[in-house]
Amino acid sequence: MKKIFQLAFMVSILVAQAAVAQDDTLVDKIVAEGTDNSQLEALGHQLMDVIGPRLVGTPQMKAANDWAVKTYAGWGISAENEEWGKWKGWERGITHIDMVSPRVATLHGTQLAWSPPTPKKGTTAGLITLPEVADAEAFTKWLPSVKGKFVMVSMLEPTGRPDYNWEEFATEESFGKMKKEREAQTDKWNQNIKNTGYTTRNINEALEAAGAVGIVQSRWSKGFGANKIFGANTKAIPVVDLSLEDYGMLYRMVENGDAPVIKVLAESKDLGTVPTFNTIATIPGTELPNEYVMLSAHFDSWDGGTGATDNGTGTLTMMEAARILKKVYPNPKRTIIIGHWGSEEQGLNGSRAFVEDHPDIVENLQALFNQDNGTGRVVSISGQGFLHSYDYITRWLEAVPKQFKIEIETTFPGTPGGGGSDYASFVAAGAPGFSLSSLSWSYGNYTWHTNLDTYDKIVFDDVRNNAILTAILAYQASEDPERTSREKSVLHLSPRTGEPMTWPEPRSPNRDGGN
Ligand SMILES: [Zn+2]
Repeated sequence: MKKIFQLAFMVSILVAQAAVAQDDTLVDKIVAEGTDNSQLEALGHQLMDVIGPRLVGTPQMKAANDWAVKTYAGWGISAENEEWGKWKGWERGITHIDMVSPRVATLHGTQLAWSPPTPKKGTTAGLITLPEVADAEAFTKWLPSVKGKFVMVSMLEPTGRPDYNWEEFATEESFGKMKKEREAQTDKWNQNIKNTGYTTRNINEALEAAGAVGIVQSRWSKGFGANKIFGANTKAIPVVDLSLEDYGMLYRMVENGDAPVIKVLAESKDLGTVPTFNTIATIPGTELPNEYVMLSAHFDSWDGGTGATDNGTGTLTMMEAARILKKVYPNPKRTIIIGHWGSEEQGLNGSRAFVEDHPDIVENLQALFNQDNGTGRVVSISGQGFLHSYDYITRWLEAVPKQFKIEIETTFPGTPGGGGSDYASFVAAGAPGFSLSSLSWSYGNYTWHTNLDTYDKIVFDDVRNNAILTAILAYQASEDPERTSREKSVLHLSPRTGEPMTWPEPRSPNRDGGN
């Protein structure tokens, strides 16, 4: 989720009075069901602990799709897995990384997504760091020295303490000095990578071609113990990410001539090309079955952790809201669809495919509510540039009891989101998709795409709050006597270019990825 600066006025919904809820007792029932009979912990355990991370193209993603269909069936909600494309099939195996010389130490790390495996018995080899080079020619000359070695491709971080920790304990001078040195070191590092003629994205290929036996990186997320774990980009040699602590130790040993040797055992399976799905659940409408209210959250994740806050919590919010609605509002006026999207992480692919494949639903969408920025309580809702969004969103929020919305700030008409999460796929098509944007709970540094994105980071009371809020909003949008307006506001001048902003264009998904 990227932050969008709004020039529009902010309206605290606290000032909105005169509730117009159709049925206050139904809102009470939603609150009671979501509070007294919450299924969130059990669902979270099944999804995060038992199924695990949901990388596109893995058997675990498919297992999650199947689990969702079965879980919905248990609630009397029909759901199906809708194939939208194909992806490289891959399954993570074990990763063991140890230093074996000059002393033995178990290292903390894991292979990246889609990493090729080591040979069966693992690979034992020394390490080499990237040299300082003047230009591409010098780098090409150096390249043969990687033969038979693990190559360390990340900068040595000057500190493993997050800035907030320095801020609390360092002297001002010392903190300032560290930051200045780190900045200079980072600039120098980036310039040196440029000098090689490669980028951080394609340098691995060159190292692989030159005979490296593996790549070792450490993509620190600026929090204690947190590293971002994305995908490998090699064809035959493994890529592993090591903790800042262990990476730093090895790096200093290499630089000081201590000649450390590591053993890496990485197993993984290449499963060829596999179909990939969105899970779509439906509670049919009774009065206006061809108009739609959608609950939306991407189902896939990266796989360094278990995708608990990205986007397990959005998934749980929508499933729980659907369960509550089915129980207390089983015959909605409009059809309620719950979309659990595949491959959001590679570019909103599942939701873009749905928008492309279901123009009828997009055309008749009353509203879509998406949640995808962590476990926190929803604190902001933007009108996404729809001129009259103030009118209906405010009306729907009026029905929500104070405790579930007290912190929410609304922005109208807001600016259309061009990306960041799946609501943008609908906004681009001119359909009213909205983001239920939550408190961060240190999402950016600690859980977003990291090895620490696990069940224990879920704040269940906040997710409970969000499930109840979402259920009430869906109920209100469904019952609204009026169809929502899609009239677009005149967009502001872009602070970046000075030109008037334009409405985002729909984009086609990647339906054949990872090859
Ligand atoms: Zn996400």
